Amino acid sequence: MKTCTMCGKEYDENAAQSEYAQAGEWLAGEVWKDSGKLCQLCLENRTRLVMMYDHELNR
Ligand SMILES: [Zn+2]
Repeated sequence: MKTCTMCGKEYDENAAQSEYAQAGEWLAGEVWKDSGKLCQLCLENRTRLVMMYDHELNR
């Protein structure tokens, strides 16, 4: 188990990921440089926010 740096909850890094979480993991590595530190829920939430508000990343 790892601890999410965003919400502080423990999560299973080997759990199956949704498409949003996979996209979030990619963004974490490319944009925020914190890949592997966030739980699936935070990755999904951040991905949704990016898709809604930051269209420069939606290429
Ligand atoms: Zn989290």
